[in-house]
This record gives sequence, structure tokens and C-alpha cells, in this order.
Amino acid sequence: MTKTSSRNNGCLTQRRQCPCGDEQCYIRIEGDEEDTSVEPMVPADPNLINAAAHTSSEVASADTPPYVGQSFRTDDEAQEFYTNFARRNGFAIRRERSKGNPAHPLGVYKRELVCHRAGVSLPRKTAELKRQRNKKSSRCKCEAQMIIKKNVSKGVTRWVVVHFSNVHNHELLDSDEVRHLPAYRNISSVDRERILFFAKAGFTVNLIMRALEMEKGLKPGQLTFTERDLRNFLQASKNINRENEGAELVKACKAIKEKSPDFRYEFTLDMNDKLEHIAWSYPDSIRAYKVFGDVVVFDTTYRLYAYDRPFGVWFGVDNYGNTIFFGCVLLQDEKPASFAWALQAFVHLMDEKVPQTMVTDLDMGLREAIMNVLPDTKQAFSTWHIMSKLPSWFSTLLGSQYERFVSEFHGVYNLESENDFVHQWGQMINEFGLGSDRHIAILSYHREYWALPFLRGWLFGGLLTTGFSLSIKAFFKGFLVSQTRLKDFVEQVMVAIDLQNQAGEEATMRQNYQNVQIKTCMPVEEHASSVLTPYAFEMFQRELVSSTQFAVYETQRDTYLVRHHLKTDGGHLVSCIPANEEIHCSCKEFEFSGIMCRHSLRVLSLKNCFMLPEKYLLIRWRRESSLFPKSSGYKYRSQALRSLASIIIQESSLTKDRFDYAQWHMSKLLTHVRDMPTVDEGASDLEPVSSLDATVDVTPVRSRGRPKKLKAAIDIPKEMQALQESQALPEMQVLSETQDLSETQALS
Ligand SMILES: [Zn+2]
Ligand SMILES: [Zn+2]
Ligand SMILES: [Zn+2]
Repeated sequence: MTKTSSRNNGCLTQRRQCPCGDEQCYIRIEGDEEDTSVEPMVPADPNLINAAAHTSSEVASADTPPYVGQSFRTDDEAQEFYTNFARRNGFAIRRERSKGNPAHPLGVYKRELVCHRAGVSLPRKTAELKRQRNKKSSRCKCEAQMIIKKNVSKGVTRWVVVHFSNVHNHELLDSDEVRHLPAYRNISSVDRERILFFAKAGFTVNLIMRALEMEKGLKPGQLTFTERDLRNFLQASKNINRENEGAELVKACKAIKEKSPDFRYEFTLDMNDKLEHIAWSYPDSIRAYKVFGDVVVFDTTYRLYAYDRPFGVWFGVDNYGNTIFFGCVLLQDEKPASFAWALQAFVHLMDEKVPQTMVTDLDMGLREAIMNVLPDTKQAFSTWHIMSKLPSWFSTLLGSQYERFVSEFHGVYNLESENDFVHQWGQMINEFGLGSDRHIAILSYHREYWALPFLRGWLFGGLLTTGFSLSIKAFFKGFLVSQTRLKDFVEQVMVAIDLQNQAGEEATMRQNYQNVQIKTCMPVEEHASSVLTPYAFEMFQRELVSSTQFAVYETQRDTYLVRHHLKTDGGHLVSCIPANEEIHCSCKEFEFSGIMCRHSLRVLSLKNCFMLPEKYLLIRWRRESSLFPKSSGYKYRSQALRSLASIIIQESSLTKDRFDYAQWHMSKLLTHVRDMPTVDEGASDLEPVSSLDATVDVTPVRSRGRPKKLKAAIDIPKEMQALQESQALPEMQVLSETQDLSETQALS
């Protein structure tokens, strides 16, 4: 591959083909911050904005400069606008300062976009310094810039230009020169495929350049990359010996299995004995699947770029809300038969346990494969994938009507009854004149796979409606660099998963250290809090708190109409048969998320039910299902302490009094701990220290000459007990940010 910067996740690219079969329907994934299909050619300045993704589609927009007061839906959109302006005017831009961060209530709320020659040259790391010595920095303190600020009013976010200056203290480049700015040079994934195709056909570099120019109707020199870039790209591609990669990968799997017998993989070879498909999973994943394999996402939207193969990932969510990884597959192609192989292999790897539901992208081949291989599994197209396609399908088509369309689409999508859906969907299509649109036809035909009214009866555990795909990208980020050799891939994924699991374990412990706040005096709440994990309990609590706002009317024996107290019509029907502890609500929330709904809870309270029936506390949301059993090993202990310490730091740094108190006690505690024996009484369970924990000093030193009387000053056993129980320490105050979420949902 090209000389790309290491920050780039160039290994995976997003698949681009539209389900309508048309390659031209460019599908932009909303929320995709870095466009993985495009990589900057020259990593000269990590802040340089990679603009090329936008240049071709936006050239036509007006030549007008940005102006103060101009507003955009997103900061990316604002940046795109400025980039296009800059390109047409002979300069490039880069992101400079920003204000705010993910923890801030507004997130990032201010951005400064500056001319590429702003600022002075930065001192570089010594290693880079030598390379850079002969290269003059182009920075000359140019002050041209655009500053944008986030503005949220009535729940609508806009990014507004608050400052704009187009005064440059240097010459601007002409259109021919501007192309050579690093920010504008890149080879898109589409171009890469064409280049490799031409190269295979024996074209020279020169010929490939000309062929691409001709295909795009460009004049010589108008491509977004130079001949040298292309040469580098081809050189890097050649370094990968594609012929042996498959065989090496199988060999690598065999080697892993020898070391770790519970590692599993399956593969097939083609007629020439070359690797066709391969699927694999790790012991931890197989264990996790046994408990949480009821709901599975199968994300096949990525390609392993260098090998030009579709890459699929299976994952799910655990009882603490952590994303958990189940398995991976590399396929030859995206044909239904290949997907069918993948699904079969997956079920084999997982001891024949079939998921109840599977969430996928809108993909016809995959749909067919699931129907054939997993007929008992309910398939659904992820909401996130559907919504992310709307802009590229309808925004140009509908113009100014598009925003209204999206909000109606959301409304119809969220309806409860299938009949209402069919009716209102038809109305919406007529209203926007979309009767003959091919994408609407696809959506209509497959409505049972994506519209909520058709899916509410199945358990999706929250995975249908959230953008978990993004987390998968983040999951692999940093581990898979573009030069990844196929044979190293399995091992790298293993490292990624190991770290992911550690993060999950850490998050689990943190959750367990937080005090659960009881908000009502209802015994069911106390009961649920002792059974459910904090993550699941929070969802339950939201329902329970809302339930108090509902009125109940008995319509016939054991059937109740539950309606919000401010409403005079609508409502939900709950049937409750106390004899066999059955309760069902027409909203189907329990079936869908595994958490009992506010309506059923309201009826239970009417029925003087103070304990939830066991079956309505789903096993998959219980504390007892935790993947991370309380162990007493070194690794566990160090992680438990780390989680506790980080909460202590958070809480104790708030005021000077808290800090003084914590510091005094902790230094005493440390002294005391050092005075304790370094070996457990009875059997020693000291384990060898793993390399990951190397940063922690593990050899507690016997104190020499420390005053013994301190020992009596603190009640150590109590503190240690509290830790071992890994429950919330009573003294710890909770950080509850989610407390007030319930109100917003109360009306539904
Ligand atoms: Zn299409
Ligand atoms: Zn400038
Ligand atoms: Zn309900």
C-alpha cells in the first residue's frame, strides 16, 4: 500500500455497493468521522485535512466564500464547505484548536479551521527531524481562518460561522499547483481497485495514469494523485505476496491452536488449493457466546483492503452493555453461497448454538443466506445502516423536502402496529412522490426486516437500534495497520479482543463500584437492583419510574388498558394472568429489549405484586451471568484496585477537604499494607505477573523501621473486605449522570 501514516486504519474499507445493485449510488455512512476509503498520501502534517473525499461531488457548488452567520448541520459539513472554497482559491486548510471534549455537555463545541500556512513550523521529534531538515516548512503565520461554533436551540444543533478571514500573507496557488498540496493528494479506494486491475493486465504506470484520466474525462495532470504516488502504491502492493498468504494464514491458525487448543477455525480451499474462506473464534469469545449469543450482529460491511476480500465480524452485547466479540470471517466474495458458508462455519464454531436474532446490513445476498442456513433465526437490518443510507438515496432527490421526509420516516419506522405502518408508509410515499423510486421499492419489499412494527416481538437487546458498527471500527483501530499480513491478522485480532475484554472487565468493575440509587419505595425496584446488572437495572428503573404516571382501567377480566395520565385516548393493553405469572403488553417492550415495560409494571403494582416473576428478569441481564467471575488472581486484584483507585481520584480531587482526607488515609493505608505479609496465609495463589501488568510494582516490600503503632490506627480488614466483595463501598457517592433521563421518555 501507499506510504500512509500509521494513524490510518487503512486495513479495512467500507463496502460501497448499494443494495439496488447500482454501483453509482454512493453510500455515505453518517457518523463516519474518518472516511476509511480515502487515505492521505503524505503524512507530512497529521492535522492536515484530507479533503479529497469531497472534491469531486462538490465542485459544482457556488463559488461563494463562507460568511459569518452561515450555519451547517455538522462541523464536518462546515469543514467540507471551507475545504472546497480553499481548493478553488489556491490553499488548503487544517484543523487547529477545538474547544470542548466528549465529556463536555455540548461535546466539542468550537473549531478553528486555518490556512495550511498558519502558525510557525513545529519542532519535530528527533527521528523525524533528520528527514525534515532539508524540507522547509511552509508555515508563515498566515491568519486566514474560519471559526465555527456549535449552537443548540430547541434540540436542533447547528454549526455557525462566527469568524471568517480570507486575508493571506502569501501567494495563493493556481489550480494546477493546488493539486500538489498534500491535503488534496490521495488515491481513493475505487481508484486503487482500478489501478490494481490495470496493473494485473500489464499496464505501465504511465498507461494507468492515462487510462484513469480517460475514464474520468480529466485532462493530463488532473488526477488527485501524482505518478509518483501511484508508483509508491503499486510498490507497496507488490510487497504482499498474495499467492502464499492464504496458506500462511492457515498455518498461523494451526500454530495458535497448538498453543491454545480451544481456539477454533474452519476454512475451505478452492480447486487450486488456494484459501477460499476462513472463519475463526477464540476461547473467550466462545465462552461469551454461550451466555450472550442470543442476539448477534453480523457486520459484513468491511473489506480487507489489501487482499480485496470481504471481512465479516460477529459480535454482541453482554449484561453490562459491553460490546463482545464472537468471531471473524474472511470470504472470497459476497455471493450468497459464501455468506451461507460463513454462517454454517459460525454455528459450527459455536457448538451448533443458533442465535435467536441476527442484525445485519441491508444486503440481499446475506438475507438469502440467513434464510437458508438459519431458518429459525429472525434477521433484521440494522436501523443504523438504514438511516445512514437515507442521505445518499433521498437528499438530492427531495431537496428542501428531505428533512421533513426524514422526520416522517422516523415516525413511521417507530410505529407500533403493522397495519398503521402499511397505511402511513403508503401515505408518506404518495406525499413525497416516491412511488416509482427504486430505493423505496427495496425498503417496501423488505419492510419486515427493518421497520420496528414488524420486529418488536423479537429480542434484540438494544443491538438493532444502535450504531454498534462504529464501535467495531473503533475496536480494530490501531491494531490493523495497512501493511497487515494475512497470517498476522488472526493474532492481531486476538490482541485487539484481549484488550477489548480487559476494557470490558474494567467497565464491569467500575459499574459494580457505583452505588445503585433506588428512586422509588417499591419493593420491585429493590428486588431488580439485586438481580440485574447496573446497566440493565438502569433501563428497568427508567420504566419503573415512568410507570407511576400511568392510569389503569380494567377492560375485561385480566386485561387492562394502561394510558398516560395526561392522555385521553390510545394506550396499551396489558394482559395479566396471576395464576401462571404471565404478563404481556401490546408494546412488546419486554420481548424486544428483555426489560419489562412501564405498562406491565403499572399493572403489577395494581395487582399488589412486590416481586418480579423470575422469568421477567432475563438471565442475559443478570449479575450472575457476568463473563468476568470474581477471581482472586493477581490480575483480578490489580484491576479491581485500579478501578477503585480511579473512582477515588475522581471523587477526591473535587475539593481540598476531600483530597486532604483521602491523601491522609491513603498514605496510612499504604504504610499498613506494606506491613502485611507478602504471601497469603495457607495456600499461595500468587500468579506469575503478565507482561501487561508490568507497569505495576508487584513486589511489596516489607517495611523496614516503620513505626509499628500505625498498624493499629486503621481498621484494615474492613477495607480489604469491601474490596474483595467488589461491591460499592458505602462511603462512595455515586456519579449518576443518567438520573433524569426517565422524564423525557415518560410520555410514550
Ligand atoms: Zn441504489
Ligand atoms: Zn494562507
Ligand atoms: Zn408496554
